[in-house]
Formats: sequence, C-alpha cells, structure tokens
Amino acid sequence: MAGLTDRIYSSSPIWVQQLGVALYGWRWYRRRFNPHFYRLVAELESREHWTFDQFNAYQEDHLICLLAAAQNAPYYRKVFADAGVRLAGNPFEILRNLPFLSKETLRTVPEDLITQRPIPKDVIVFKSSGTTGTPTEIYYTPELHALELALPAVRNMGWAQVDYRARRVMFGVRKVCRFEQDRPPFWRYSPAENMAYASIYHLSPKYLPAYIDFLRSYRPAMIMGYPNSLYTIARYALDNNDFPARAQGVFTTSETVTDQIREALESAWQCKVYDRYGAVENCMFASQCEYGSYHVSPEAGIIEILDRMGQPCKPGEIGEVICTGLQNLLQPLIRYRIGDAARWALEQNCPCGRSMPVLEAIEGRFEDICITSDGRELLRFDTVFKGVHGIKESQIVQEKVDHFTVYVVPAENYTDRDQNLIRANMRLHVGDVQTEIKPVDALMRSSSGKFRSVICNLTEAEKISIRQESPHDL
Ligand SMILES: [Zn+2]
Repeated sequence: MAGLTDRIYSSSPIWVQQLGVALYGWRWYRRRFNPHFYRLVAELESREHWTFDQFNAYQEDHLICLLAAAQNAPYYRKVFADAGVRLAGNPFEILRNLPFLSKETLRTVPEDLITQRPIPKDVIVFKSSGTTGTPTEIYYTPELHALELALPAVRNMGWAQVDYRARRVMFGVRKVCRFEQDRPPFWRYSPAENMAYASIYHLSPKYLPAYIDFLRSYRPAMIMGYPNSLYTIARYALDNNDFPARAQGVFTTSETVTDQIREALESAWQCKVYDRYGAVENCMFASQCEYGSYHVSPEAGIIEILDRMGQPCKPGEIGEVICTGLQNLLQPLIRYRIGDAARWALEQNCPCGRSMPVLEAIEGRFEDICITSDGRELLRFDTVFKGVHGIKESQIVQEKVDHFTVYVVPAENYTDRDQNLIRANMRLHVGDVQTEIKPVDALMRSSSGKFRSVICNLTEAEKISIRQESPHDL
C-alpha cells in the first residue's frame, strides 16, 4: 500500500504533491501533538535536574512494569521460562540474566513480542524496510508517537533554547520529489507542522544555489537532517560565499558528526550543532547539551555497554550497545542488540549540571555516500529493497560512477522477481546505472568487523572531478 501511495505521489504534478505533503503533515501533527505530548513535555522538563538516585528509582519502577507486561508476549514467556526467570527481587538483576533480543528475531516474529490481544485499534505499525527486504515492524501507540516528538522537543531543541514549534526544514530520507525532477522546487511545505521537507537527492552543484535561495527566503529557525547532506549545503555556502539565512540551531541525527562537518555547519548557519542519537525502535535517546556532552535520557531506556564476553565496559572502553526500552509496553524490546557500539565518558560530571549519564562516542551506522554522474550525493538505499522478500542480507557497492553491485545473501524463497525488483528500485533511486546483482553466502566485513551496508569505491579524486564537471547553472 505504501508502495502504491509512493508511486501515485511521485507521478503527480508538483501542486498535487504539495497538497499531499500538507495533508500528510496535518495528519501527523494531529497524531503526535496529542494530549500525551503536552503531558510528556511537562514531565520531561520537570526531571531536568533530577539526581542520579531519582533516575535510578524511575528506571527500577518502569522496569518492573515492563517485565510484568512482557510475560504476556509469547516470545518473552518462552524466554523467561527457558532462563528460569521468576519476576521477584531486583529487576536490574533479572534483566542482566536475560538473553539478548536480536534484530533478526524482531524482524521475523514481531507479533510474538506483542503483549496485548487484540492489538489496540489506535496502534500504527511502522515498517522500516532496512537493508534486508523484510521490514522490521515497530508498534506505535499514540503515546509512543507523542514521546518520539516530546524527547527531542525538550532534550534537543529545548537544550538549544529553540521553541519546538519554531519553523524548520527537514532534510530527511523521505522522497519529496521525483528523482528525475530537474528544476526547483525540491521542497514541499507542511503548514500544520510549520515546516518544509526538502529532498536530499537533489543536492548537486547545479541545484545548490536554488536550495540556498529557498533557505534564505523561508528563514527556518531549525535545520534538521543527516550531517552529510547538510554538509554538502554548508560546503557550497562557504566555498561560494553564498549563505543561507542564519538559524537558531542545526539538529543532526543518524550519522557521525565529524569535527570538519560540525565546523562547516556552524559557520554556514551561524549557530551551534546539536546532534542526537535515537532509533525507530524508540528504546534509547541521547542528545547533546549546550556543552556538547551526549546525555542519555534515562526515561527512554536502560543502556548497557558490554564487552565481547557480555560484561559491562568500564568508562572509556568501547562495547556493544544493548537497549531495554522502558516506554513501549505493547511491544517490549528487552536487551535489544541495536547494532551500534559506544563508550561511556570518563568524565560523567558535565558543566551543565545534569545527572543524565554521558556517552563519549557512538559508533556504527556507517554508510558510505555514493555519487551520481551529475554530482548528486546518495545515501540511504533502504528503498532499493522495498517489496523484496527473498533475501536475508544485502550490501551495495558503487564500483564506478555508473556501475553498482548489489550483493545479496539469498533466502530459500529467492527468485528472479527479487532481482528484477532490486534493479527497478535502483533505477528509481539512482537513475540510469548498470546494476549487477550477485548472490553470495556471506557479506564482506571490514577488518574491525564493522559492517557497512553501502560502500563507495570511487576515489576522492574521482568524486571531486564529478562535482567539478557538473554544471553549476540552472
Ligand atoms: Zn551536559
């Protein structure tokens, strides 16, 4: 259904797309700014200066409720029985003895994690297609949707002293216009949300002046999006002395903000960058305070950082992030392997005075950026696997500017249909390129064991020459 909506949207004229985005925005505004939202904002604000002990007591109470709820889900009933768990005593102790929940389990049996039957009518299932084709299904109640917005409103925008209702532009993964569209506008407005959604798929040298003009006239207080996409705009602005309107805060997520990126974004928009770290699974949230520390919000979830032996890492030691979301009682994620690595900061006392634990670094989620022959930067290939059911894992490699290899680990039901669909989706996402699909037993990992789902094998020199060859005029 979503695929059909996408196809109708992308083949519509711009004014219809604009209307569609406005309606979409209005619907989400009503869904998210519900009474829960205002309550959650007030509650989160009231805990800004809680002590460590207060947060600990909060987590203990919520963990007891979570474990009790989890017993109603078939998956956890079995897990608890197998582990010989009785829900009595210290809940943190019980948690430490439970097995991990893998992404694979969540993906293959999402309904076995559900604690309530029938599933409440007001639940929306969020499907994230990821890089395997079989989407991960996360169940959102209206309260969870409100929380998804309340956390950044208080602990991201609030810490930047920006009102969450202020005007914003979002450079997100959403395809706001057709890839083939070759003249602006590459953005659509959502008046209800006081925001515009801008395409990250048209950030080529040719179109950047138009983006800058748009940002100058729309004057958003907040710029939001992937650091690498925003960096493309900032780099253009700085190189050409052609600046967007000054913003009050740049809010980044999902990718690493290097010093180089941070400096460029802060110079281009003349304000600070506030990065945050969250996940669609909604089981953790960390965001930068005014001193740059990444504080974990204890209400969102319990974070463990574990070494290879499953023992807690000392501050400064890098380990695997394991999350237990405290807010989703309908579909509990207990000891969930989120797939990232992180370390606790050696210095836990931040000058801001907050007692929320400080992470020093979060790693993982690494994807290369690919580049098209006309200089557009591409990231996020999730849509390439939309509707593909016959693969277990995948990896996309850009070998040459017009040549991609898609490595797939086939499942038993892998067919030619899957191959054709991947090729068709690549054409939609990347344009006219040669796509080779290679079934393999296992995917390549780097020497450190880190998995990159997108790899670009073009050299820096090749990327620069592509950018220079792209026409700058409209
Ligand atoms: Zn701080």
